[in-house]
Amino acid sequence: MVRPHVLLVTFPAQGHINPSLQFAKRLIKLGIEVTFATSVFAHRRMTKTAASTAPEGLNFVAFSDGFDDGFKLDTDDGKRYMSEIRSRGSQTLRDIILKSSDDGRPVTSLVYTLLLPWAAEVAREHHIPCALLWIQPAAVLDIYYYYFNGYEDEMKSSTDDPTWRIQLPGLPLLKSQDLPSFLVASNSKLNGKYSSALPTFKEQLDTLDGEENPKVLVNTFDALEPEALKAIEKYNLIGIGPLVPSSFFDGKDPLDSAFGGDLFQKSNDYMEWLDSQPKSSIVYISFGSLLNLSRNQKEEIAKGLIEIKRPFLWVIRDQENVKEEEELSCMMELEKQGKIVPWCSQLEVLTHPSLGCFVSHCGWNSTLESLSSGMPVVAFPHWTDQGTNAKLIEDVWKTGVRVKANEDGVVESEEIKRCIEIVMDGGEEGEEMRKNAKKWKELAGEALKEGGSSEMNLKAFVQEVGKGC
Ligand code: UDP
Repeated sequence: MVRPHVLLVTFPAQGHINPSLQFAKRLIKLGIEVTFATSVFAHRRMTKTAASTAPEGLNFVAFSDGFDDGFKLDTDDGKRYMSEIRSRGSQTLRDIILKSSDDGRPVTSLVYTLLLPWAAEVAREHHIPCALLWIQPAAVLDIYYYYFNGYEDEMKSSTDDPTWRIQLPGLPLLKSQDLPSFLVASNSKLNGKYSSALPTFKEQLDTLDGEENPKVLVNTFDALEPEALKAIEKYNLIGIGPLVPSSFFDGKDPLDSAFGGDLFQKSNDYMEWLDSQPKSSIVYISFGSLLNLSRNQKEEIAKGLIEIKRPFLWVIRDQENVKEEEELSCMMELEKQGKIVPWCSQLEVLTHPSLGCFVSHCGWNSTLESLSSGMPVVAFPHWTDQGTNAKLIEDVWKTGVRVKANEDGVVESEEIKRCIEIVMDGGEEGEEMRKNAKKWKELAGEALKEGGSSEMNLKAFVQEVGKGC
């Protein structure tokens, strides 16, 4: 009997790698062999930052995406990138599939993340069953689906007029700011070079439409998005998340600390400092792995932090390369009050007893990690799915408050201070958010437990992978 073997193709961004790696580790535990394919650059970085070698059953292969020294979001050509990753990636996948068969470990299923619909084509060529691993909420997939299925004109007409709303199946009433940024025409400046991302989403949906029983494994869980998971009749959306380390819940899984997937080198000097801080006192600020804030926006955050007089841990990735003249004007004061690091283990930070609040850009992984750690959020979204995630945080799960930007799109210090105070102070509103956050942590843990919805869904998927042998 051949061992089931999943080829897991992952877009080389931190927000794809983290949930894919968790997915891979869960498959291994269920007896599946996994070959994790990502770009040369990401693979090199992951290996460099890894604390240990990869666990048995998890193999890595790298394919060139044409940018082996890394793709720079602000300056490199996004269209060229998507075309290079497609042509080079497809060929590498073909080679891996053939070689695996020759080695007597045939690939029995292919799973790929967002932005790589060509991987499904390769699977089809080789008659291998395949599934999409959707690493954003089900609600966002629904919105893209309905955009291309009857609601394009209505969404395109969206304006910042506070009375504009749209009702889509399975979703709460949405304002323009709650839609993925690529769908709002006036966001072209915000989306920058990625304004061209929309055709890839369309291609992804066309790919699913061309399959007999389109299967989408979604990084969410049934209790979190019960209606959104059922909002597209012709797709089978399966909640298998949250794909976060199980240490968020029980703290004891050795696989969690084995082979991490960090693309950045974390700082070593914050844990001791966190240990020395009072319980629930720290404001943690992070905008994920891609966003670079404007100098002006950083100055406003810095001013807000100083005014609020609370200890903080702030991740600023590009800090090392900042020229002296571009340094934040109040750096000395900031350094007395808190810590700025270029990268941290968000898992360690969010589960630390000193943490009190997460000021987050609402990337989907950070959102699931905040829910899984029971941490209330100041939602500070910018682009892509973050506005939708912020809407869900504020109005559906009620675990946070969303900042309001001024007319120039900047969130001012007063507003940042106001929101942090709501979340951290002893008032009723903050209390309610903390209570809700704890409730979601419990529900997330239940979904992953033996017999929980995500665990059962994953086992059902694994059984199918086994049947392909
Ligand atoms: N992250 C981390 N350390 C940091 C900042 C971020 O480990 O200092 C991780 C975070 O835990 C999350 C991922 O990077 O898993 C970021 O993914 P997310 O979807 O939140 O945002 P993106 O980077 O895709 O915008």
